[in-house]
Order: sequence, then C-alpha cells, then structure tokens
Amino acid sequence: MALPAGLEELIRVFDGWAIVTRYDVLSDAWIFVALHDDTLGPALGGTRMKVYETPAEGLRDAMRLARGMTNKWAALGAGYGGGKAVLALSHELDPEERKGLLARYAQLLNSLGGIFHTGQDLGTTPEDISFLSSISPHIHGAISGQPAQDPSPYTARGVLAGIRAAIAHVDGTDVLSGISVAIQGIGNVGRRLASLLVAEGARVILCDVDRHRAESAARELGGELVDAAEVFATPCDVFSPCAVGAILNEATISQLKCRIVAGSANNMLATPEDGERLHERGILYVPDYVINAGGAIALGPLLHAGEDARIARVDEIAGAVAGILAAARQHNESPAAAVRRRVQRVLEEARARHV
Ligand code: NAD
Repeated sequence: MALPAGLEELIRVFDGWAIVTRYDVLSDAWIFVALHDDTLGPALGGTRMKVYETPAEGLRDAMRLARGMTNKWAALGAGYGGGKAVLALSHELDPEERKGLLARYAQLLNSLGGIFHTGQDLGTTPEDISFLSSISPHIHGAISGQPAQDPSPYTARGVLAGIRAAIAHVDGTDVLSGISVAIQGIGNVGRRLASLLVAEGARVILCDVDRHRAESAARELGGELVDAAEVFATPCDVFSPCAVGAILNEATISQLKCRIVAGSANNMLATPEDGERLHERGILYVPDYVINAGGAIALGPLLHAGEDARIARVDEIAGAVAGILAAARQHNESPAAAVRRRVQRVLEEARARHV
C-alpha cells in the first residue's frame, strides 16, 4: 500500500532518529510515534489523539512535538529523550472503536520494548491513560490499576516557581506579595496558579473566553476581571498565558504592558522571532517548555515517587529558570536564545560522554 500524500516527504526531512508508522485498519487511524533524540535516555512524550484533515498533518504535529520534548528534557537536565505519539483520526471514534485503537496502540508500544514512554496529551483522557497502563508498562501518569493522575497542580506549582525566579531576576527579591499577575485562561492550570499566587499575596487579574470561569474564580479568590480581548494591554508585572499556544505575535507583543511573560501555555510564541521581539521591548520571557514542565516531571520521572520528592523536584524549576535568565543576561541575549544554547550544550556534552 502506498503512503498517503506527503508522508514520505515529511519522514525524509525529519531531524530525529526514527518514525514508527502504523495504519490501523479497523479504526482508519494512523499511529505515528516520532522519536527525536535519545542522547539523554529513552523518549518520553505524550500521546495526542485528534481528527486531522490529512494523515500528513498528524505526522507533522508528532515530529514538531517530539523535537519540543527533546528541548524540554535537555533544558531541565532530565534523563529522557524527545518523542511524541499522534493517533491521527479520520473521524470521531465511538467508544468501542476508541478502546480497540488504544488497545492496539498499547500493544505497539510494548513491541517497541521501552524506547518510547508516553502519557496524556491533547485529546487523550485520564481514563485512556489508565486503560493504556493496564496493557503497557510504558505509560506515565497512571500506575496500573489506579486512576490516572492530574498533572495540573504540579504544572501550576512549577509556573509559580518560575515566576518567583523571574521576579528575583528583575527585582532582586523573590517576594511575590504586591506583584500583579494577569492570567489568560482560568482552566486547570490557570485556576490553580491564581490560587497559589493569591496565597503569596500577589494581585491576580483573571481572563477567560469562558467568562463564567473567570468570574467564579474572581469571586472565590478576590481577583479582578478583564475581557479576553483586553488582557494583552492590561498593565501588570507578569503576563501569564495559560490558555492556548501561538498567542504572542507582532501585534499582541506591541500591546503588552508587563515586565515579564511567564505561563504554562505550550508554544506561546507564534514564531521564534517573537522571543527576540519580547527581548527588544525589554520584556523578560521565561521559556514555556521549561516553566511548564512541572506536570511532566511529577508524573514522568517521578511517577512512583512520594509527594515530597515530586514537589521538591518541581520547585527546582526555579533554579533552571534562574540559570537560563542569568545566562541570557551574561551573554546579552534573549532567554529564548539562551535556552536554545543550553539545550545544545547539554546534548553535545552527553554525546561526548557516550563516544
Ligand atoms: P484548560 O483547557 O483546562 O484551560 C484553558 C482555559 O483557557 C479554558 O478555560 C479556556 O476557556 C481558556 N481559553 C482558551 N482560549 C482563550 C483565550 N484566547 N483567551 C482567554 N482564555 C482562553 O487547559 P490547561 O490544562 O489549564 O492548560 C493550559 C495551557 O497550559 C495549555 O496550553 C496546555 O497545553 C498547557 N500545559 C498544561 C499542562 C497541564 O498540566 N495541564 C502542562 C503543560 C502545559
């Protein structure tokens, strides 16, 4: 059977080391496991499941996200490699079809013998992760026989640690009392982050396209509200994107009235140049894949660890952020450039140790 249009061309330009591809006849879904870099250890990255217009779009997502996982683990100095899986659906599956696809996917993971470990991502649920872990030992986020765990509390805690490091970098003190933080997206992470910030005496400004969410959080926590369209231009110390990706572009960056950008949203910069744009405006950008790693750390490498060990490791995000910001200052470059250099150095040093 010939590959669908575009797949072969994409595979050939992948800068990783392998792509595992399977077509699941019963569900008409494509399974792509993109393995980007195993220098630091076996690949660990989530499993995304969604309907794509073409299989090639799913593969493109898997390749891009696998590369991002290499960066994340290397920036944090964790012993994992970059990888990501995408279950690219042609249509929404009914519960039986979904279960069948997941069971066959778990068996595929077993056949890979542990070169790829995975957990929850967009489109997969805690129930899916529990189910996968009943078939495969290579699942993170759930211990077989137990319900899957929610990464958001750890992600929010990691973002708080990163904000603290950023405030310390610009103000010389990590006291958050009196600091104003505008949070875009009061979902699983944003809501918890708001509560942690209020407990530290910070002032929170809340915004969500679902206004009820923002209103109920504001009532409970005592925060202020701002419309979704106005959040970029809201004066604050920290703008914390916790909604969707690609929200920082030429137009939105020019509106910002903050000193720091630090939040959980994945791929918040629309293009790499936007990291430089923020730098040119004198706004300190905390690289997203470092500050938002709390959930991945707690339910990945530390899945079987106790709560204290998890929290201690998540709080170390502050040290990682401080190191990147200090390197950026020392080399007179943007934090986005500094973290790229750090990733390169970590991988090169590890490769040198291997030869
Ligand atoms: P969520 O879906 O629970 O919350 C997102 C919230 O953002 C929702 O309330 C939604 O209504 C709101 N929103 C969407 N678009 C918006 C917009 N333009 N303006 C204002 N509000 C908007 O998601 P979450 O789990 O809290 O994750 C938030 C972000 O953090 C996502 O980008 C996610 O990929 C990233 N992230 C989450 C985790 C985690 O542990 N949940 C870990 C790493 C990264």
